Amino acid sequence: MTQALDELVAGYRRFRGSTWPDRRLLLEDLAARGQRPLAVVIACADSRLDPSAIFDAAPGALFVVRNVANLVPPYQPDAAYHGTSAALEFAVKGLGISTIMVMGHAQCGGVQALMADEAGALTDFVMPWMQIAARARARVRQTGATAAERQTMCEHETVKVSLENLMTFPWVAAAVLDGRLRLQGAYYGIATGVLEFLGPDGVFQPLL
Ligand SMILES: [Zn+2]
Repeated sequence: MTQALDELVAGYRRFRGSTWPDRRLLLEDLAARGQRPLAVVIACADSRLDPSAIFDAAPGALFVVRNVANLVPPYQPDAAYHGTSAALEFAVKGLGISTIMVMGHAQCGGVQALMADEAGALTDFVMPWMQIAARARARVRQTGATAAERQTMCEHETVKVSLENLMTFPWVAAAVLDGRLRLQGAYYGIATGVLEFLGPDGVFQPLL
């Protein structure tokens, strides 16, 4: 076994010894009755953030979809493999979810690659994927801000692009328009732990 696997197995032993017994009744109920999550959270795959930890959420509470840079592609029902769109269809049509949150974050490597416009070795999938956010980059390039400020602005804009693209899914748009579904943008500071919500004025404001 590798050292990483050793650490994973040790962590599983701790989970099985203390966390799982505490949650046994909840997990048995979820297994028997199925999931009824509060919300979908679309987050980045970055290992430094964990939506369930940020929202202090128990198993069954959050339907978490993670990908590079928390992007939602436009609605494109073709023969390609759309993992994020499939998860959304499952949550909205299958589970009747009432809230979808798109959560961006600081120091996003996907956004960094997009802003640098340098694929490096990430040519097969990352850079084509990041083109979903090309208009986020275009919006912040016109400003006279510093590189660090533009990175943050682009991270904010990727959240807005994902929210815009969510509305291209006809069953999302229909549910939003008749009040069954609410979309919310958010932004998380890895170092600060500060969570910001996107307001109707297009500005992110700290939640607390
Ligand atoms: Zn990221």
